[in-house]
Amino acid sequence: MKIGVDRLRQEHSLPPEGYKALLTCRDPDVLSYLYAQAREVALANFGNNIYIRGLIEISNCCRNNCYYCGIRKGNIQVERYRLSRETILDCCRQGYKLGFRTFVLQGGEDAAQSSDWIEGTVAAIRGEFPDCAITLSLGEKSREEYERFFHAGANRYLLRHETYNKEHYRQLHPAEMRQDTRLQCLQWLKEIGYQTGTGIMVGSPGQTTEHLIEDIRFIERFSPQMIGIGPFIPHPNTPFTGSPSGSIEQTLRLLSIFRLMHPQALIPATTALATLAADGRERGILAGANVVMPNLSPQEVRGKYELYNNKASLGAEAAEGLAALDQQLSAISYRIVTDRGDFGKYKL
Ligand code: SAM
Repeated sequence: MKIGVDRLRQEHSLPPEGYKALLTCRDPDVLSYLYAQAREVALANFGNNIYIRGLIEISNCCRNNCYYCGIRKGNIQVERYRLSRETILDCCRQGYKLGFRTFVLQGGEDAAQSSDWIEGTVAAIRGEFPDCAITLSLGEKSREEYERFFHAGANRYLLRHETYNKEHYRQLHPAEMRQDTRLQCLQWLKEIGYQTGTGIMVGSPGQTTEHLIEDIRFIERFSPQMIGIGPFIPHPNTPFTGSPSGSIEQTLRLLSIFRLMHPQALIPATTALATLAADGRERGILAGANVVMPNLSPQEVRGKYELYNNKASLGAEAAEGLAALDQQLSAISYRIVTDRGDFGKYKL
């Protein structure tokens, strides 16, 4: 099966049965080989540099009711908040001093943060931080809204497709949410010129190996600049409260597959991975990830943006814990860098 790994490294693609063999492989030698090959490819493209992005969770109000998500509209236990523009700018100022050159504005689909307001907020950040990248992760919008944010100065957009399989999409979302819309949004984002990120939760309820193969083949075709892969973790106040978490091993296999498929992609070792295992972040990096996204939200709202159980936002997951993060990474011979970390810029 090592041959499959070699072929994926050389050709950046495998037939479906090749992906299946890797996703179901339990041979520790093959898995170590897969991770090692992915790590080599990341090292060849980025050296031992890990890019940091400051994550600002701008609102936990959401019109959607995704069955997996802790900030879904139907969770009446959440204390809702939305950050003001000035608070967001303050987060950016603190982040800038710490060395962040990418700010990620993430939030629920909150009508009170109108497109005028988002456009104005992006423009304000762009005006004050001309050397920084602005990433948005604010869900589904119209093409015109995406264009306005882009022209105001946003450079990147993260929108996970969550699952490519239509029936599985239905199992994860209520009927009013349409997968076609999400895929259309991704297409628009790319056409407009955003560095576009997509991805999935690993081990979401009902997910099968066949679904994962569909996701892999979609990501192969779509060729996103960023790929976000993290384990599903249940949240107590959602319909999926009793479902098991996704597996770390399956997440690592997928990280490695995507690194070999898209050598230059920006792939985070996600907070969900770091939440599930104390060494999750490091294992993600050793499987080919090259980005971390420490939390730059105001401390008093971090607990309220609880997408899943015990979501990590302290220590090395926090912007103010950058020194601890750097230490953890240096223990595995990597280092934080403060460059913007744009796609396609860092081929060594
Ligand atoms: N509203 C925006 C959107 O839909 O893209 C951004 C916010 S949304 C909360 C960000 C991501 O959180 C989702 O794409 C989903 O994959 C992830 N997420 C939500 N609930 C999760 C859970 N229980 N476990 C792991 N990841 C989860």
